[in-house]
Amino acid sequence: MNTKNYRLIAVDGLAASGKGTLARRIAEYYHFAYLDTGLLYRAVGYEVLSVNGDISNPKHGLIAAEKLNPKNLNNPELRSEAASEAASVVATSPEVRMALLNFQKSFAYNPPDGKMGAVLDGRDIGTVICPDADRKLFVRADISIRASRRYKELRSLGLNAIYARVLQDLRDRDCRDVSRNMAPLVPAKDAFVLDTTFLDPEGAFRAALGYALF
Ligand code: C5P
Repeated sequence: MNTKNYRLIAVDGLAASGKGTLARRIAEYYHFAYLDTGLLYRAVGYEVLSVNGDISNPKHGLIAAEKLNPKNLNNPELRSEAASEAASVVATSPEVRMALLNFQKSFAYNPPDGKMGAVLDGRDIGTVICPDADRKLFVRADISIRASRRYKELRSLGLNAIYARVLQDLRDRDCRDVSRNMAPLVPAKDAFVLDTTFLDPEGAFRAALGYALF
């Protein structure tokens, strides 16, 4: 438990593992504040694309990160595949990661609206942003299952997704996440690893609650 009288839950994991849905449900269940930190990287990537910048150029990423306005995180465009891809690239930049650090820490350690706790989901919450989180979950699933979930999601949105491309895209993202120099995706040593390959969202939630007892 951290030194404050509120609770912190870190939910990290692979793309399309179900961690976002799970983190949101845990936050609702406990009435905690919730931050999807992937949205911050998506907003940075999207901003670079919007000004015709170069997502691989750390300077462009840094300028976008410094301009970030959390009020704009509801923009539905941030959910697009283009923003997702751009996020994955800008997230490899240490400058961008440093620029987003304070916002995440401040949300975690001073949850808004007087909430008694916070749930953050991302890739480095349990290792870098909140190493002293009360509970740490690391969510993973077999890549073919993750690809088929993402494929169905895109199709249900009316998008013309191709399974092989979705699979390759996830492979590329996993590779960037685990191989970057700063804050690579790795389970915290004290994380509870939850494999959702054979679990539906309800099953994942029940399994997580079995671990995240307060
Ligand atoms: O979770 P989501 O897919 O929205 O994240 C978009 C991208 O942002 C990920 O592919 C990942 O590379 C990056 N990210 C990160 N660290 C976080 C959250 C997201 O590097 N804490």
